[in-house]
Amino acid sequence: MKRKLVLRFPGTVVEFPFMYTLVKEFNVMPNILKANINPRKEGQMVVELTADEKDLSEAVEFMQSRGVIVLPLEQQIVWVEERCNQCGACTVICPSGALTMKRPEMTVTFEGDKCIVCEHCLKACPARAVEARYLSGE
Ligand code: SF4
Ligand code: SF4
Repeated sequence: MKRKLVLRFPGTVVEFPFMYTLVKEFNVMPNILKANINPRKEGQMVVELTADEKDLSEAVEFMQSRGVIVLPLEQQIVWVEERCNQCGACTVICPSGALTMKRPEMTVTFEGDKCIVCEHCLKACPARAVEARYLSGE
């Protein structure tokens, strides 16, 4: 199974090799999607973890026991209207009808509740008017 998570590391454990330990001790394959450390030496990482369900839950318990805050990740697609040049490229490939061309006005509209976060529009948009934002499920 795969799970996308936000991991927050307090300054006291930020240098511990968590990703190495997940691979060696828990058979978990991590894919780091985003990582940063703030000036107070606290770290935040967005990861996708792949493993058996049991290994994955043991790995999460291990990180929590070391003081890491583990939050579920939700990804959301955001349409930045002011950057959109109304070219329509995204509306052709959007499989869910979330991005559509309104006729006869020929203007693009985005309905977030229809979006299945397939990310096809991110690759299709020449104006970077569509963004994926990561939200932690706090
Ligand atoms: S992520 Fe997929 S479903 Fe959502 S708006 Fe983009 S193309 Fe449509
Ligand atoms: S591909 Fe980008 S610029 Fe073109 S209509 Fe879609 S959001 Fe707008």
